[in-house]
Amino acid sequence: MSTTRETLAFQAQVRELLQLMIHSLYSHREIFLRELISNASDANDKLRFLALSDPGLLGKEPDLAIWIDADATAGTLTVRDNGIGMSREEAITNLGVIAKSGTAEFFKRLTGDQQKDAQLIGQFGVGFYSAFIVAERIEVLTRRADQEAAAGVRWESSADGQFTVETIDRAERGTSVVLHLKPDAREFLDAFRLRALVRRYSDHIAFPVRMRKEGAASLDYEAVNQAQALWTRPRAEIQDEEYRDFYRHISHDGADPLAWSHNRVEGKREYTSLLYIPSRAPFDLWQREAARGLKLYVRRVFIMDNAEQFLPLYLRFVKGVVDSGDLPLNVSRELLQQDSEVEAMRGALTRRALELLARLAKDEPDKYREFWREFGRVLKEGLGEDPGNHERLLPLLRFASTATTGTEESVSLTDYVARMPSGQQRIYYLIADSVEAARASPHLELLRQKGVEVLLMADRVDEWVMGQVSEFQDKRFKDVARGDLELSGLSAEADRERIDAERKESKGLLKRVKDALGERVLEVRVSERLRDSPACLVRAEGELSLPMRRVLEAAGQKVPASAPALELNVTHPLVRHLDGLADAQVFQELALLLYEEASLVEGGQLANPADFSRRLNELLVRLVQACAPARA
Ligand code: ADP
Repeated sequence: MSTTRETLAFQAQVRELLQLMIHSLYSHREIFLRELISNASDANDKLRFLALSDPGLLGKEPDLAIWIDADATAGTLTVRDNGIGMSREEAITNLGVIAKSGTAEFFKRLTGDQQKDAQLIGQFGVGFYSAFIVAERIEVLTRRADQEAAAGVRWESSADGQFTVETIDRAERGTSVVLHLKPDAREFLDAFRLRALVRRYSDHIAFPVRMRKEGAASLDYEAVNQAQALWTRPRAEIQDEEYRDFYRHISHDGADPLAWSHNRVEGKREYTSLLYIPSRAPFDLWQREAARGLKLYVRRVFIMDNAEQFLPLYLRFVKGVVDSGDLPLNVSRELLQQDSEVEAMRGALTRRALELLARLAKDEPDKYREFWREFGRVLKEGLGEDPGNHERLLPLLRFASTATTGTEESVSLTDYVARMPSGQQRIYYLIADSVEAARASPHLELLRQKGVEVLLMADRVDEWVMGQVSEFQDKRFKDVARGDLELSGLSAEADRERIDAERKESKGLLKRVKDALGERVLEVRVSERLRDSPACLVRAEGELSLPMRRVLEAAGQKVPASAPALELNVTHPLVRHLDGLADAQVFQELALLLYEEASLVEGGQLANPADFSRRLNELLVRLVQACAPARA
């Protein structure tokens, strides 16, 4: 181990980040204080946890706290904790490198809007560096709780691309961060302003945050916060602003949460939970290895971050704290996985989170809309992952629909069922490549004419999702591009008679078209769904849809060949004329064109586009010739 002073370069991304801090963030500069207090609190939490198995670590100083000192003469502001501290190596990596995968994403998300960018700082865990917004030079004096005074470390940087570290003697355990304030940041030395800020950022912190008593030259400290873990306090005494501040502390998200739920469970099992719904998705929502889960405390002692055993994967966006009265203090991740107690808590917390969402949807639909936009796709996973909660999940889903315009998903199943005309037995839906494509699909023609609403879906997972559910309020789900429409109460006697008559009359035509198309289609039949278009493709109930086939094929899976049925609208002039065509060659070409068009409308690819184009052109030539003979 080197004890000498060495100068090291910041990792390139840290340099970039520091430039950003120094040159573009002028508003909300005070957030640095939140970040430093938060780090100090984490450091104390970590020591208290280690001391569970090694009480000697606390030594003569068992009370963990945070101190904040302003020195107007020196122009410094110091944030000190007596927590875990850092070794020389830790200081170098923790304060010189951003190892987190999120940093690139952080830069991508910068908007140039200072307020938004300042919020991002906390979210991406680049908290410590935010101190350079107000400091021209920062010294960090630290010593790990499990090392001797001689292993103290002094880290220093002026944000000029490099930092120095040296080993020093340091009697105090833990970390002091000394900010040498820029001339324009001396406002943070003002006792009144500082106290207000510290109180604001530390009221939810479980350790006392101490400042010098007011009055000149006082050497006595007093706690300026309540120093009581927020979740242990009675709900009625906690201000919304405190809940929000606590959310920022545990989530590293600068934005406000959409909603929270704070509960104490007593009786056979005792625990307190505080769950939050964030207002926007974290950058790593879709990364498998991303950290998720709640902060776990046992009888108020911090045990671990990201305890993922307390909520299912599809609620991975939920942030919060769970404090158990029953689990052993030495509980490990492995133990959590097998514990039946944890299993029961997970079930209860899952219901709690779903109830919180239901309440948000009911009381604050605008906020719920925001939630759905950010997290709807994740929530849908629950239909596969958590069949036991279908009844809670289904009312939370939102869809685009033929009853609304645009692509926003705003219709709930409850809305849908309430609007159903009498006689309708099914909840109709259609899945296509985009909501626009679904909206324009020929499969909707009859239903539209009858005023029946259809839910429009365009997400890759939707087909899978709809495969997981069968009904809502006793109404079965029905894909309008498959099988029979099951109109039952919606179709009048006259409709059925008309279709029967059409079927009888068209037998010959259907056979000729099937012969012309061969294996391309399973069968050719008279359509009930169509009103304006001449033809469409329909798949059988359990068969893979086109988008699903593509997903599977792209993933290298062998997908069994299958052919759709071709449905014809026998009242369409094109189909009527087809029936009368004697020329076998022209009939063949027209039948193929109808089939190819129907494939295109469905979003499919033609087996032979050049053939299609040739066919179409030949027909157009005939048309043009019939209208106007070519000029000589
Ligand atoms: P984050 O807190 O999100 O991890 P920071 O940039 O604020 O990001 O801090 C980087 C790391 O430096 C922390 O994860 C921690 O390991 C270390 N660190 C910062 N402040 C302290 C402190 N007061 N005591 C001990 N370690 C600290």
